[in-house]
This record gives sequence, structure tokens and C-alpha cells, in this order.
Amino acid sequence: MPAQKLSGLPHITLENQWITRSWCIADGLATTDYRIRPRGRGLWLEAMHWHPWWDLDGMITADGVNLPVSRMVDPPELGMIRGAFSVKDIRQEKTDHAQQVEFVLSPAENLPLVEVSLHGKLLNHEPMLRTWLTVRNIGKKEYKITRLALEAVYPMRKEMEFMQTGFDTECFPGNDQRFPGVSIPRTVHLRKTLKPGETLESFSLLTAVCPTDYRWHVAARHDLVHAFAPHTCRPKILQQAEGWKDIDELKQSINEAAEVGVQVVLLFVAEGWSYGDLELSEILFPNGDTDVKALCDYAAGRDVQIGFYVGECIALPDCKLLKDHPDWQFLGIGGRRYDPGGIGNMCPSSGWGNHFRKKIDHLLDLGVKVLQTDGPPYGQVCHEKDHGHRSPETACLDNWAWEQQFNRDMLAKGIVVQTPAWPSRLFDGAGQIGGGYTEDDMSVLKGLDQITQFRSNLVAANDQLPPSCRWGFMSVGKMYGGARPSMVDDPENEPVRLEHALATHLGLGFTACLHGKHLFTGPQSKALVKKWIDFYNRYRSLLTCRTLTLRSPDMHGLDGVFHCNPKENPCGVAVIFNPSDREQTGTFIIPLEFAGWSPGRSAAVRRHGEGQSIPLALDDQGQALLEIRLPAEKVEWWEICFG
Ligand SMILES: [Zn+2]
Repeated sequence: MPAQKLSGLPHITLENQWITRSWCIADGLATTDYRIRPRGRGLWLEAMHWHPWWDLDGMITADGVNLPVSRMVDPPELGMIRGAFSVKDIRQEKTDHAQQVEFVLSPAENLPLVEVSLHGKLLNHEPMLRTWLTVRNIGKKEYKITRLALEAVYPMRKEMEFMQTGFDTECFPGNDQRFPGVSIPRTVHLRKTLKPGETLESFSLLTAVCPTDYRWHVAARHDLVHAFAPHTCRPKILQQAEGWKDIDELKQSINEAAEVGVQVVLLFVAEGWSYGDLELSEILFPNGDTDVKALCDYAAGRDVQIGFYVGECIALPDCKLLKDHPDWQFLGIGGRRYDPGGIGNMCPSSGWGNHFRKKIDHLLDLGVKVLQTDGPPYGQVCHEKDHGHRSPETACLDNWAWEQQFNRDMLAKGIVVQTPAWPSRLFDGAGQIGGGYTEDDMSVLKGLDQITQFRSNLVAANDQLPPSCRWGFMSVGKMYGGARPSMVDDPENEPVRLEHALATHLGLGFTACLHGKHLFTGPQSKALVKKWIDFYNRYRSLLTCRTLTLRSPDMHGLDGVFHCNPKENPCGVAVIFNPSDREQTGTFIIPLEFAGWSPGRSAAVRRHGEGQSIPLALDDQGQALLEIRLPAEKVEWWEICFG
């Protein structure tokens, strides 16, 4: 059956120039029409082939009973049950930014008393849609919710890109035997007890519509992150280090940061406070809170913020807290406790959760603005009976929810959180996650080879996430007190290496982490650090939008990326590296359609954004050829403007 509205029956529609979706609301809810237009004009395509008997919009399993959200017209011979809900209320909201609908659905007789809302939010000026469910217990007894599933998606439909928020969600292609080749995103391992009056929010399915081209899919993923986690468009240029011998040396780092435009100086690992006890460093803060507040004020006076590494769930064996509260640790099967490692041993559902939150709130009161953390390990079951979680298995979900709340609270306070978690965390408020590199790179390779290899990994990861929400790791000087080699040992005397390292971060769109007590050690290195921070700030609105690869890095030829923003002019900047030891030429195709080109528009380029603009010859697809000659070991950029 083709997608279409059912004639004579009432429908609610969300529509923009890329997406139209209608739900019939007679006798239950059902999507009856869902079409997309990948370029915002021309042909409408069916987003999916609508089957009237399919649980298309969602599914909830309560006390073992499957409750399809959609109305289902049941050919009884297929053994299908009727839709479980009727439409009780429809709430609609329209702003300049988005149109939103909530269908409130009541359960049919003799079914679990859970009220379900299906939410849809369509952005007015972007090809993006968010859908999610909320489930509310309206009965007098508890229900066990073991499945939340949202609309099926077709991996075969190459004009759509999907991301998800939430706990442990995965797509299982072909997981519905009736419709092979279909993915149904659903929460797996969900064991949630819903008490009377409680509400449970599902993950969100984030959908973008784009042309069938892998570069458009990259752009769509970058757009999805920036649209639904807009705080990731506001990253801070962050320097971190450890091993300051006293507060005066730390202030010196802050002064240097201020001189070149670094926005955050972060006290790395156990530099600011101890693991577990979360006691302030006596070396840096002999007068405790007073000293931290004074330091934050000192930094603020120079437009620099102070950040702390705060091991979210880590307490080392020799700390006082563990002697007082050994029972706050995760308890594994057979009475085993976990090694703190780099992830954590403390269960957030125990007293540790409140202890940590109180300490964090106090730290923020003193003026700290950025937090960097590891963990928590919410994949672990926990058998400790006195923690807040209901069972060993629900510990995973409860601890995940604890961290979700933590990230949301921090976002509401304007605090930036860096955490090595997975991408769904960004939509809960995490500011940055790891960037695609491995820290092992730092202790194996050296010199330009290392930096180039490192860059190739960062660039490759652009296919999944924009650089604005990830960090790299540029090490300068002595790393871990000299225990590891750095990218740049001696900045003043290694200008080529320093510039490539800086451009591999700031030129690629990474603001963090610039690691070292002193990013520069003389006038030449200071000028280089300032040059690339100035570059970042000048093109911030391009670097926090779409980033496409022009050529992947190797040691043999030129490589580069193109940052662009269709809402800006200058609309793009290409950053090109020559890591080799000879002059090289290269011809790059600059795809200006990603920068907002439309037929008839002209464009021009300026090297380093200075001097005379040179007109670019564009083909009928908005592609420009950029011919570049680059001396050995140079990095340069070209700014592109529409006429
Ligand atoms: Zn526990």
C-alpha cells in the first residue's frame, strides 16, 4: 500500500520542504504518510512503505505484554492484535525554530495501565526530525518495562541518516522476521520498574534527510549533532597539564594562556584534587577553598576559566573514603570489587553518587567552569544490596540515568563536560568525547610522521562526528613528568612540528586538549600558538559546522579538510598540509554545495583570508578547482567567499 492519507479521516501533519509526515488519529494512531525530499525540492520519495498492520510508530513491553503504539488493522489470519491505544489528547506547538506534536495515548481495556505519548519534533528550516516516546504509569501497581522501540527504519533508504540518544540502544538490521532488511531501534537490556505516577522517557531517534552521497551523510551527521546538541557548537580552547610546582607556576600558565587566547586551563588527573576523597591539592591550594576561589578569580580577570579533572567514579585503594565506605564500590559476582583503573570502581547509586555531586557543586561554587572525567562504568552489574538500584541488572540502567542527570544538570549550569563516552551522551549535555585517536600514538611514533598519522585518525573519525564535539591530544613539553614522549618536546626549537601539531588540532576544528604547562617557550613558538588560536576564533562559525575531507593524510602528498557553513559568508575555509620534505602541488575539488552554493552564485578565494580575492571557476554542480603549491612542511589555509 503506498503512503497516503486515508481519505475522510482526521490527520495531523508535520511538514517542511524536506519532510512530510502525517498521522491518522481516528481509532488509534498510525503514520499513514511519510515522505522525504532529499534536496528540498523536486521529487518526493516514500520514507518507508506503509503497512497497515505494522507497529510502525513504536512498541512498549509492559509486564511482558507487547503494546504497539500504532493502530493496526488486523487481518486476523496474520494473528495480529489490534492497536493497544486510543488517542486521548493532541498537543501541538509551533515556533520559528520547530513544529512539535505530542500524541497522548490511552491504553485499551484489560491492558497494563500505561499512558504513552509519541512525540515528534520537526525543524522548520533543516531536514531533521526527532521522535521519541514517554511512558507513564497511570495505574495503582508497578509495571516492568522491558522494551521501548521506535519506528522501523530502512537501511536501504540511502537518503536518510539516523542517530540515537539514550541507554544502550542499538539498531538490529533484520531483527523483525516479517520484514528482513529493516532496522528497529530499540532499547535493549531494559529492565525498568515503573511505579504508579512515574514517567519513563525513551531514547530519541534523530533523523536527517540528505542526498545519496557519503559526503552528504557526513554533513548530515554533523548537522544532527549541532542541531540536537547545540552546546557542541560552543567548544572552548582548552589547555591542560599536571605537575605545577606551586600556585605561582600555575598562574604563569594562566598568564601565558591569556596572552594567546586559550580559554580554559584545566588541572589534569589528580592535579587539582585527589581521587575518591576529592580533597584539594595541598601543593596548589594550601588554604583550601579560599585558594581555589582566588585562582578562579585571578583567571577570570584574564578571560580564562579554570577546569578540573574529576574522576567521576574512581577511588584509589589507599584513599580515606574507601576505608570509611568500602561498600560504596561496585560489587561483582562472588563478592569481587573492581579495580579502579581508568574507568571506575564506585557505584553512583551508592552514597558515592551524593558525595560526588556535593563535592562537584561546591567546586562549581568556587568558580570552576569546566569538568573533565572518566567513567562511570555503567555496563557493570552491581550485587551490593544497599545501593539505590533495585537489582544487580538495573544497576546498569540506574547508573546510566545518574550520569544522564549529571550531564543535563551541568549543561543547565553552563558547565562544559568532557567525557570519554559514546556519542549518545552528547545529546544529554556532554560537551566533548574522544576524537578518534589512540593515546598509544603518543608513545610510539615521533615527529611529523607521528603527527600526520595522528591527523589521519582524527580526519577519519570526522565521518562519524564533527570535530567540535571531540578532542584530540596535542602534547607539548614533558608528558606525565617525562614518562611519555610528547608530540613537541621543545616548542621554541621545533617550529615545524609545533605548527603541524597546532594545525592538526585547531586547523581541523579541535579545541582540546592542548596538553602542557607551557604551550610556548619563546617568541617564535608564542607567535605560532597565537596564529592558530586566532585562526580558530576567526573561523569559529565554519569550524563548528560541517567538516569534509579533501584528502586523507599520509606522508607523501598534500592533505586537507574543508570547513563550511551554508549560513555564513565567508562560507568555507580549506586547510591544507604538506608534511613532506619537498614542495608539492595539488588540485583539490572544493564542493561548495555543502557551503550553501546555488546555481548562478560566484565564489572567490583568498590565501590566508588576506589580500586580493581570486575568482574561482565553478562548474554547474558548484564545484571549484583549487590549485595549490605548498612549500615543504608548510600548513596554509584558503578562505572562500560567495560573490
Ligand atoms: Zn551498586
